[in-house]
Amino acid sequence: MSIRSFHPPVRTLMGPGPSDVHPRILEAMARPTIGHLDPRFIDMMDEMKALLHYAFQTQNELTLPVSAPGSAGMETCFANLVEPGDTVIVCQNGVFGGRMKENVERCGGKVVLVEDEWGMPVDPNKVAEALKAHPETKIVAFVHAETSTGACSDVETLARLAHEHGCLVIVDAVTSLGGSPLKVDEWNVDAIYSGSQKCLSCTPGLSPVSFNQRAVETIQKRTSKVQSWFLDLSLVMNYWGGGTKRAYHHTAPINALYGLHEALVLLQEEGLENAWRRHQNMHAALKAGLEAMGLHFIVPAAARLPQLNAIAIPEGADDIQVRSTLLKRYGLEIGAGLGALAGRIWRIGLMGYSASPKNVLLCLSALEAVLTESKASINPGVAVDAAQTVLAERGY
Ligand SMILES: *Cc1c(COP(=O)(O)O)cnc(C)c1O
Repeated sequence: MSIRSFHPPVRTLMGPGPSDVHPRILEAMARPTIGHLDPRFIDMMDEMKALLHYAFQTQNELTLPVSAPGSAGMETCFANLVEPGDTVIVCQNGVFGGRMKENVERCGGKVVLVEDEWGMPVDPNKVAEALKAHPETKIVAFVHAETSTGACSDVETLARLAHEHGCLVIVDAVTSLGGSPLKVDEWNVDAIYSGSQKCLSCTPGLSPVSFNQRAVETIQKRTSKVQSWFLDLSLVMNYWGGGTKRAYHHTAPINALYGLHEALVLLQEEGLENAWRRHQNMHAALKAGLEAMGLHFIVPAAARLPQLNAIAIPEGADDIQVRSTLLKRYGLEIGAGLGALAGRIWRIGLMGYSASPKNVLLCLSALEAVLTESKASINPGVAVDAAQTVLAERGY
């Protein structure tokens, strides 16, 4: 055997996640592993909860990081809140709404699908109609920041609508947490899940979740067992919620949690509003450059996510060749289109630590070089200047 240690290349990650991981987070993860019931570790867990309260803007007691990626946070919400026979309105305007539908069906629930075109936000009028047509609905589920298209939906309005009809809401905030305004308590969100590797710039593999009192009571009133032992919150809570009497549930991913703790400390140091503003500023600079080059966004301006820039692939460019050249020559990763948008768009992420002037300028100049070489129809020589102008205007 001649296999030796794995040394990954250094990349610039400007896809749909993972994003560039802050060096302080990697350093935190390399600290000594201690027991998951060690009093010092339990102190760290208490801090983690306070930091998550800040990130989510909530006081929800049931707030914790699930020991698995964002998809497991999604499954935690559905598995605990949906019982066989329940009706759930699922809004689908991209890939992740489709996964919510899968989750409801696997929990034995009945799905009422509200569809919007990919690239558009969820239309509250359609949700209102579905609620009227299906008064038996128990839950309304939707994605805040649809990473497959770059569209942002209006959580506050959708939650208000759902509550007017006595429903709970489940919100996917995997890509929004830390990147776009998100106020769990003010907006009355009942259950929400996120991920560590998007705008929190941590390594993949953890999923912060939060449930309000109404959601907790719904779980307590269940007549059937949660079909997943691992994700059953009543069991997980004996570990995360047990105070000094924490009971073993599963071995917490100790070092991964050090990483998330550091990521949340970084967010607290910067301040949520400042982080949201930085994402918006980097988006404005990238947008100026891309549009100067002649590229077009697929999402209407009012619904655009700053952290996920979906642009149409220009005439004459070969999707796979462009992305592989960016990776090989510049170490730059951008995202491909998913599902219905595969081969038609690129997704440029500006998430967390990746949302920096350095990355915006690298992306524009590298993309311009590769597109010019491949004879795609773009305007050369103007993108970087356009972005620099916006950066200077905004004090960078
Ligand atoms: C990335 C993502 C997920 C899934 O998260 P994983 O960590 O990949 O499991 C779910 N929803 C949205 C909107 C995402 O962007």
